Amino acid sequence: MKKVIETKKIRVWVSIVILMIFSIVYLSLAADFKYIGSAKSNKYHYPTCEWAKKISPQNLDTFKSAQEAVKAGYVPCKICKPPAKG
Ligand SMILES: [Zn+2]
Repeated sequence: MKKVIETKKIRVWVSIVILMIFSIVYLSLAADFKYIGSAKSNKYHYPTCEWAKKISPQNLDTFKSAQEAVKAGYVPCKICKPPAKG
C-alpha cells in the first residue's frame, strides 16, 4: 500500500516539473515577440487583443517590433491600437 502512495507522489511531482518547464518555454517564446498578425489579413495586434486570439496557429505571424510588422505590409489594428513605430 505504501508503495502505491509513493508512486502517486512521484507522478504529481513529475507533472509539476513538466508544467514548470512548459511555462518557462512559453514565457521565453512570449518574450520573443511583441505583436502578432494573421497571414489572412493585413492587421497586426497586441497578443492580448480579442481579434489576435481568433487567429488560427497556422496563419499566425509574430513581430518583434511594430516596424517589422509595417515592413511586412501590416497596418495597426483599430481595436487594440498597437503603435505604428517601436
Ligand atoms: Zn487588435
